[in-house]
Amino acid sequence: MADFDVLIRAGQIVDGTGAAPFIADLAIRNGRIAQIAPRIAGTATQEIDAKGKAVTPGFVDVHTHYDGQATWDSHLAPSSNLGTTTVVLGNCGVGFAPCRKSDRDVLVQLMEGVEEIPGSALAAGIRWNWESFPEFLDALESKPRDIDVAAFLPHAPLRVYVMGQRGVDREDATPADIEAMQKLVREAMDAGAVGFSSSRTMLHRSSSGESVPTMGADVKELKALGGCLSGEQGHVMQFISDWVDADAEFGILRDVSAKTGAKGTFTLVALDKPPAGMNPDPNLWREQLERLETAQAQGLDIRGQVISRPIGVLLGHPATMSPFYKRPTYMQAAAIADKAQRLAMLRDPAIKAQILSEKNDRPHVFIELFEHAFDQMYPMEEPINYLPNSDDSVAACARREGREPMEWLYDFLLGNEGRNLLYTPLTSKSGRVIAEFLKHPHTISALGDGGAHVGSICDSSANLFLLTRWVRDEKLLDLAQGIRRITHDPASFFSMNDRGVLAPGMKADINILDIDKLMLKTPRKVEDLPGGGSRFIQDCEGIEATFVAGEMIYRNGVPTGTLPGKLVRGLQAAPARGPAS
Ligand SMILES: [Zn+2]
Repeated sequence: MADFDVLIRAGQIVDGTGAAPFIADLAIRNGRIAQIAPRIAGTATQEIDAKGKAVTPGFVDVHTHYDGQATWDSHLAPSSNLGTTTVVLGNCGVGFAPCRKSDRDVLVQLMEGVEEIPGSALAAGIRWNWESFPEFLDALESKPRDIDVAAFLPHAPLRVYVMGQRGVDREDATPADIEAMQKLVREAMDAGAVGFSSSRTMLHRSSSGESVPTMGADVKELKALGGCLSGEQGHVMQFISDWVDADAEFGILRDVSAKTGAKGTFTLVALDKPPAGMNPDPNLWREQLERLETAQAQGLDIRGQVISRPIGVLLGHPATMSPFYKRPTYMQAAAIADKAQRLAMLRDPAIKAQILSEKNDRPHVFIELFEHAFDQMYPMEEPINYLPNSDDSVAACARREGREPMEWLYDFLLGNEGRNLLYTPLTSKSGRVIAEFLKHPHTISALGDGGAHVGSICDSSANLFLLTRWVRDEKLLDLAQGIRRITHDPASFFSMNDRGVLAPGMKADINILDIDKLMLKTPRKVEDLPGGGSRFIQDCEGIEATFVAGEMIYRNGVPTGTLPGKLVRGLQAAPARGPAS
């Protein structure tokens, strides 16, 4: 019998702690790292030459919305195929448990509206073999999948479960409601939820246009529910907010953390022009960093979740939206099932002229705002430039060719067999602001939203982008610090102390990376949602292999078929420090 299951030879060990990388062998046995040493003697069932490659912990992505997909799909792409080995779902207060049979449609509409996951896919894909949150965790646990998942208890289902239609209608919770919700928060935490999440933004709406049940929930309700968390158990409170009264909002996390020792985290983005209804101060992000510093100085572990590039909407024929998508003649073309026929119609000069002369019929508010914002749309071409400048915009491209921008982009979107995409940043694309976020000691790299916005955003690659842009190309962070930000830091913030670091005894969640070759490919549409819907996924070059619990789940972007992923229930203890064996 071999001494080890896997031996990764002569790689550059970037161990996740931020320590200087070093060349060594790494041995895996029984799903754990057995040994890291310059030259490990012994045999292994599988031996991999990692010379010239970085060997890192698997990435940990704490902001995803795989709540539905994790129940029907064994592969959590586009995360697992991009080096992520642990995800946290149930963010932003939306999810599917607890849920009575009579409320299923309400929660599906919420997820469809808030996270743009087609209701048809949710309806066809979710098996609903649960009612309570603990039963939902059991259902997650029983489904084989490639990577590990952990779950927040989301506020919206909880509120609807306890308050019924009053919860949907955003009525104030009565003392009895709060007591009933508290009981369920405790029950969920006991079952292994990693914390409690909520949404306090008017941007989140159900597919029928209603605000989410948690919008405007009284600060007292949030504090009472957060009060059931426990720092000792490693719980985290998460929300997204419009920050209209920024002090009061931040005060929720501050109070909960001070009272319970739980950690707090929230979506932290810079908005050049905040939409109406949100805190209008374009410098709010800076104030938020100061609030974090003050809280941390008081011993409260509250961190802002930041993203390594702008959150960006993809526009084009494969996407949910484009500048033409609700123009009558375009809609006729879009209804043609045969792709070649559809493209031929769109290429017809008379049809093109007709579409260009029309207006979108009741488009999504995003298209209303951005349809003519040619200076804020960028053609997406490889290598993808996620931090473009004005010279790269559709306006600039059209100007260089002396053409009308709308006409230019019509042709551009038909290129590459109609697969070309435009990228429209929603959050600040200032490299200076993003650099400040990424260097800040009290932020966490996150906000990839894996599993969500499946037809218009594909940002779960943001962790990899941190490595390509901010580590390799810009050298804002060195490799050790960059890896630490997407492995150890998020893992330890969520008290998953068995992962995120390469050391003997730790879980063998590992990536082998060719840093020089790392490159993100243009997101592509796949038609594999339950019920026949489609979604974007993204591929990359440069991830040679990904291991979960010592089993290789991906090799050069191709799934191996093994499904070692597990449900993470709450705090995970660090391995006892023993002699390396
Ligand atoms: Zn979210």
